[in-house]
Amino acid sequence: MLADLRRKHLEFKGFPTLWLGIDIGGSKVAVALADADGRIRARRRRPVDPAGDPSDELARIAADARALLAELGAESSALAGAGVSAPGPLDAERGLLLGPPNLPRWQGTPVAPWLRDALGVPVRLENDANAGALAEWRFGAGRGRRSLAFLTMSTGVGAGLVVDGALLRGRAGNAGEIGHVPVVWDGEPCACGLRGCLEAYIGGAAWTNRLRRAAPASSRVVELAGGRERITPEHVLAAAGAGDVFACDELARYNGYLARALVGLVFTFAPELIVLGTIPSAAGEALCFEPLREQVRARVWPVLASGLEIVPSALGPELADHAGIAVAMQGGASERSSSN
Ligand SMILES: [Zn+2]
Repeated sequence: MLADLRRKHLEFKGFPTLWLGIDIGGSKVAVALADADGRIRARRRRPVDPAGDPSDELARIAADARALLAELGAESSALAGAGVSAPGPLDAERGLLLGPPNLPRWQGTPVAPWLRDALGVPVRLENDANAGALAEWRFGAGRGRRSLAFLTMSTGVGAGLVVDGALLRGRAGNAGEIGHVPVVWDGEPCACGLRGCLEAYIGGAAWTNRLRRAAPASSRVVELAGGRERITPEHVLAAAGAGDVFACDELARYNGYLARALVGLVFTFAPELIVLGTIPSAAGEALCFEPLREQVRARVWPVLASGLEIVPSALGPELADHAGIAVAMQGGASERSSSN
């Protein structure tokens, strides 16, 4: 009650109390405004044209932000800062995208400086895995934890790592790119140009290509999809749930490669929690999490396995709204601590 009164007072006095979050994906943009507690107050999502001009897209994002402020009846001075979640590779320190495979025209685009000029507030940029880790840590499955990994597992594969209560950023914010650790030396070609990367085996795009090549005509997967060329990972999950042999084998292969990556992470930084996004979340306990926990526990030392939890994303489809907000709020927190 007192907190509510204080917030209303601050809003009335025109103090900046709103955070802007922007999630730029390969096919969609999500823009959201949150209050000082991180509650989403207004949002919009729309498709993005991967072949479109990045300057036009950034101008549309700035216009979205102004429209959301207007929707809440707030002045632009109410904005405390903005955060952007975007596909890597990128340079978080300079706020640039560096040729994300799904947005080739964005190579070198100074996203954070451009938005800073347009909106007149500090703007932070993080890759989508780091932003997702911050969002799950602040608002989702990882609240109150000291060390966790969050894995994005849709088109590509990446990890955001919170270690001893801080995001592990590495050089230019590029730590955690476990999707490109080789799981088969000189194996399948990867979208990044290397070979044998984890992403070339369990990334949604690579897995979809393989399923379309490998599914036998008699498989339930082909039947559910209505043709081999229409297969997606969702059809494999549905067919595996119904006991289809090909789908179960594919999922076992998927879990096996994922388990190798998780074992590497557990030995590297001894997390308390591993949060898995899209495909494992959709697969659920019986098809993914139970076999995965069993394999990981069997392959790491008991001291590391004890108390380790492997769970689905708590934010699910809401992650896109919270990712940029968490980046913005993290920026605000680090600015306050560095100025103290
Ligand atoms: Zn790769």
